[in-house]
Amino acid sequence: MSKVLVIGCGGVAQVAIRKCAQRSEVFTEMCIASRTKSKCDALAEDLKGTTPMKITTARVDADKVDEVIALIRDCKPDLVMNIALPYQDLTIMDACLACGVNYMDTANYEPEDTDDPAWREIYEKRCREKGFSAYFDYSWQWAYRERFEKAGLIALLGCGFDPGVTQAYCAYAQKHEFDQIDTIDILDCNGGDHGYPFATNFNPEVNLREVSAPGSYIENGKWVEIPAMSIKREYDFDQVGRKDMYLLHHEELESLAENIPGVKRLRFFMTFGQSYLTHMKCLENVGMLSTTPVSFEGREIVPIKFLKALLPDPASLGPRTVGKTNIGCIFTGKKDGKEKTYYIYNVCDHQACYREVKSQAISYTTGVPAMCGAMMLLTGKWNTPGVHTVEEFDPDPFLEALDQNGLPRSENRAPVIVE
Ligand code: NDP
Repeated sequence: MSKVLVIGCGGVAQVAIRKCAQRSEVFTEMCIASRTKSKCDALAEDLKGTTPMKITTARVDADKVDEVIALIRDCKPDLVMNIALPYQDLTIMDACLACGVNYMDTANYEPEDTDDPAWREIYEKRCREKGFSAYFDYSWQWAYRERFEKAGLIALLGCGFDPGVTQAYCAYAQKHEFDQIDTIDILDCNGGDHGYPFATNFNPEVNLREVSAPGSYIENGKWVEIPAMSIKREYDFDQVGRKDMYLLHHEELESLAENIPGVKRLRFFMTFGQSYLTHMKCLENVGMLSTTPVSFEGREIVPIKFLKALLPDPASLGPRTVGKTNIGCIFTGKKDGKEKTYYIYNVCDHQACYREVKSQAISYTTGVPAMCGAMMLLTGKWNTPGVHTVEEFDPDPFLEALDQNGLPRSENRAPVIVE
């Protein structure tokens, strides 16, 4: 018997909520709260009669700690699932601490306003000291470690697919397949086609910021930064085929470098088609990806927010997206004194996701792990207080839950290695 508060009702949250509703023996009650309450009401209405899970809805501006505290006090959840945007991570963590409730999210903190001088000063110092320039990093949320530990509460960070399942794959490889992992390549392939010349599969602002940033990887404990999209490889993905993929910075590299002992190289690759890259470069060149407000006909607009208003809503891509995703990790290392390689991944079909939960596979592959992570916390399978990323917990029950709830793993013990 447990009650969760879900904050956010976008593409990912809607999948997580529908999946929770399928597991109503764990999720007996839920409050769905977001900035636009009508979306929560529409989903609650759609779920009516399909699940014993009791659902209420509320409006909240999660940028305001007081509003989140009032909501938590009113709804009294056992867990707050933050599936809004990374901008709200810290306010929701503050509210959870104030109310004594466990917390989880699907992406690490980044500020909405990257021109804020106070934030910028800390950011620039971090860029110099650490050697990567992404706007997001774990330092902001790791700063809450002691407070969560002392309160006996858990904050589970980044429990989507990547970050999230990819880290569970690393913990699994470390536990069962290797004595020593030398290299990890995370490969995120979307072989889906939505038929639009240009659209993003999840929140455009967050997605475009990530993709237009310099790439980086970790070699021998140090970050190596490269210009955006400057390292390209081709890979033949199971059930998808040959795709071009590009090295990106990605948040889980930072925590894996801390938690996988002795790992020498960590990289992240994502596939992109030429049309996506050409559109993105053009938008970047004309300033449409900027987060700095500009004055337009007497009012201020933020270019990337305006662009978001023009692009298709990621939640609307479901019916038209065909093809599959393939996301996983390739490891090299040693077991019993011998060199070995291992690939663990999931293949997910866009149309199958749509038939099940009315969403495409990108939201599905994020929402299902969020539900499974919540289940780990609510059933006490993951119970160490503090602020933790997924690889810090036992991967076995989590991967079993994913196998049973729509994201089964595949394995290959002789994979082609990325050069
Ligand atoms: P959407 O933009 O589709 O949804 C975001 C939701 O958050 C909307 O319902 C929005 O409300 C709500 N929201 C935004 N600001 C506030 C606020 N101040 N207060 C309350 N609610 C707010 O995003 P996605 O569903 O695509 O992504 C959700 C999260 O998942 C993001 O953090 C994203 O980075 C992460 N993600 C993680 C992945 C992973 O593998 N780990 C992969 C993909 C995404 P409104 O309807 O009013 O706009």
